[in-house]
Amino acid sequence: MKRPFVTKDQLVAIANEFPTPFHLYDEAGIRANAEAVRDAFSWNPGFKEFFAVKANPNPALISILRDYGCGCDCSSATELMIAEALGMRGEDIMFSSNDTPALDFAMARDLGAIVNFDDISHIPFFEQVAGAIPRTVSCRFNPGGLFKLANGIMDNPGDSKYGMTEPQLFEAFRMLHERGAERFGIHAFLASNTRGNDYYPALARILFELAVRLERETGAHIAFINLSGGVGIPYRPDDEPCDIRAIGAGVQRAFDDVLVPAGMDDVAIYTEMGRFMLGPYGCLVTRAIHEKRIYKDYIGVDASAVDLIRPAMYGAYHHITVMGQQHGPDKSAAPATCVYDITGNLCENNDKFAVDRALPEIEPGDLLVIHDTGAHGYAMGYNYNGRMRSAEVLLREDGSCKLIRRAETPHDYFATLGIAPVGRELQAMARAREANGYHIK
Ligand SMILES: *Cc1c(COP(=O)(O)O)cnc(C)c1O
Repeated sequence: MKRPFVTKDQLVAIANEFPTPFHLYDEAGIRANAEAVRDAFSWNPGFKEFFAVKANPNPALISILRDYGCGCDCSSATELMIAEALGMRGEDIMFSSNDTPALDFAMARDLGAIVNFDDISHIPFFEQVAGAIPRTVSCRFNPGGLFKLANGIMDNPGDSKYGMTEPQLFEAFRMLHERGAERFGIHAFLASNTRGNDYYPALARILFELAVRLERETGAHIAFINLSGGVGIPYRPDDEPCDIRAIGAGVQRAFDDVLVPAGMDDVAIYTEMGRFMLGPYGCLVTRAIHEKRIYKDYIGVDASAVDLIRPAMYGAYHHITVMGQQHGPDKSAAPATCVYDITGNLCENNDKFAVDRALPEIEPGDLLVIHDTGAHGYAMGYNYNGRMRSAEVLLREDGSCKLIRRAETPHDYFATLGIAPVGRELQAMARAREANGYHIK
């Protein structure tokens, strides 16, 4: 059984303080996991996790990860600004972008970030818009074809827009070497949300073997191998969680088999995990506001796909726990006696957090926890239907809560229009602010 990281009573108290919907994050869980990642790769002195900022750009959360030595993996100018706002500079920042605008390269160069080139044509482009090639550089590899492991096909790199072919990679290393680069890295992202513990070790072996050939044939010194992201999390109750210790040990075996005999035992291992670092340690807290019975039973909640788009966008499964409400029973372990579609309010029929889901009986006013929204949750938010993005709240280790991002208001929505919301809209906003969730006076 999948349990939320808060109890019903805890959640009722939190929701009395912060109006639903909001994303809630578990500081204790984030810290324990970040420590486990650090320990799993402690055999490699140069190891560094560059947290994929796109997965969750909240500075309060990224600064927790910093306590464990994490840097930032950025892919846009704004993400670079977030890293900079956190005081990061230089090789604390990995810049893994694609289809990169000139401004972004210039900013990465100014910050001294490690630039991870997605394409060979980006090398002359970079020189044109950002200046001299930095001393430390990286290139992204795409082996094409299908990426298979013993347990089947994991993904289809040949069909993805990222990275360079192998001949391009060799050529890019020569070009960068000629232009003064001295420390080189290789990066590849071949599969997403992987299950089991074999993905990183298999990817590492491919990249280590490639690194040996690249160093021999181009004379470029390989300083690091970046395994990027892709380590999965157990979204479904019967999914086995990945064992980061076993993953770290698997990468170490490949290192000992391939790099050590080649005299390349000084290579640092880098990762850019997003989902694995924060995914399980966030949830979307929402309240049931309507029950609708037509040809199916629908529970309408006060969150929508603007707060969490993965179910609507990819049909992704997010587990839901019905918690109950202040003066009602704790439903968190109640038997699933009903079948519902859990819907948001967007005028899109795919705005559903769950379809035909067996759940305990839900009454309007009940709090629901939608699990595993710590990565690619708030981050993928948008403003369709004029819906405002929710707040983010951090549950600290001492049990207290801190607002780490306020909810958007119509002022935010109107800001880009150069006009202010007026009259009725403002009244509605004030009412919403007072309403604190379900009970609108
Ligand atoms: C998305 C992304 C990541 C993080 O992926 P996860 O699946 O969240 O671990 C890392 N690196 C790059 C370049 C990415 O695009």
